[in-house]
This record gives sequence, structure tokens and C-alpha cells, in this order.
Amino acid sequence: MSSHLDEAALAALRAALESERAILRREIEDAGGDPDSGQVGVDLERGFADSAHATAERANLIAVLDGLRGNLREVEHALARMEAGRYGTCERRGEPIPLERLEALPAARLCISCKSRTP
Ligand SMILES: [Zn+2]
Repeated sequence: MSSHLDEAALAALRAALESERAILRREIEDAGGDPDSGQVGVDLERGFADSAHATAERANLIAVLDGLRGNLREVEHALARMEAGRYGTCERRGEPIPLERLEALPAARLCISCKSRTP
């Protein structure tokens, strides 16, 4: 293993990511979205333009779904990197991301120093 993380740490982080993925998928479904596509659910399309209120609610819901899907993509990306054996390294310069940062944010792509330089 080329990772600076030991097996126990990786197993714990994988469990955290998988649990986050399950929660995000459920939240997307509960909000009427499809976790596997960018489509808004049928329930949302019905009643669109009924009123300004419905339109605002729909826009709000779409923003919520976009946020949830964005988080889900980050979590799935982290799991894919774990499969590839590249988990836990900074995607900009390749240096190891400290375990404390990964424990706080298992889907982190960048180390704190690169992250702070990213707008
Ligand atoms: Zn970095």
C-alpha cells in the first residue's frame, strides 16, 4: 500500500464515506430527486408554474438537490479514489492529506494548504 494511512484508518474512513453516501442518496430521494441522474423528479415537474410561490419553492428544492448531488459526487469520487489506491493524497500536488483532516472531511480532495489557495 502506498498510502500514508493504515488499514484501520482506511476502513474507518471508507465506512464514514459509505454511510454518508447512503444518507445523501436517501435525502435526494426524499426531496423527490433521483440520486443517479440530474433529473428533477416527476412530482416536481407537475405543478411547475402553478404560482409564483410554487416556482420559488421549486427553485429552492432544486438548489437543495443540486447541493446534495454535489456532496454525493464528492463522496463517490473519494470512494473511487480509495478503490484506485489514491485516497488521501492532495489532488493538486499529491502530498498526503493528514488523517485529522480526512476524519473531519472524508471526501477532502485537497490538503489544507492547497485548499486555502483555491478560490
Ligand atoms: Zn496540496
